[in-house]
Amino acid sequence: MRDALGLEPPPLEPGDRAGIGVDAHRLEEGLPLRLGGLAFPDEPRGLAGHSDGDVVLHALIDAMLGAAHLGDIGTLFPSGDSRWEGIDSGEMVRDTMARLAEASLHLERADLAIVAARPAIAPVRSAMEARIAELTHVTPDRISVKATTSDGLGFTGSGGIAAYAVAVVRRRP
Ligand code: MG
Repeated sequence: MRDALGLEPPPLEPGDRAGIGVDAHRLEEGLPLRLGGLAFPDEPRGLAGHSDGDVVLHALIDAMLGAAHLGDIGTLFPSGDSRWEGIDSGEMVRDTMARLAEASLHLERADLAIVAARPAIAPVRSAMEARIAELTHVTPDRISVKATTSDGLGFTGSGGIAAYAVAVVRRRP
């Protein structure tokens, strides 16, 4: 189909597609903290959410869905659906990988950034990369996890945790 200028848009070729994902959840006393598919049993507060509130996996899911043009986490895993209530977000990643595979797509690479006052991510960075790689069927060198604080400012200064993800998916030729 030609656009308003009479130009043919380029065909959607096999190749790499990038997507971005962002998520944030509130921290609450007494909830278990799950982040990047890992448990943090020593943390006094966990993320509130319909599922386990794992913002890292949620941002990753949205980045992959965006790259694949398959919608977003809110429409695929609606908070009104009891199937996803309290669920391990790893299950949502597995479901997303199945949707990608159905579209002949796989994750090529993902870069993740966590904004949190605590917990410290550096000591568990490798474990988190390995866990996410396992969930997405790639080798750990294709998953990058980084973290920063917001220097005490805003909700990520104490009340919550945010995560950002960029994913590149590839279509089989
Ligand atoms: Mg979320």
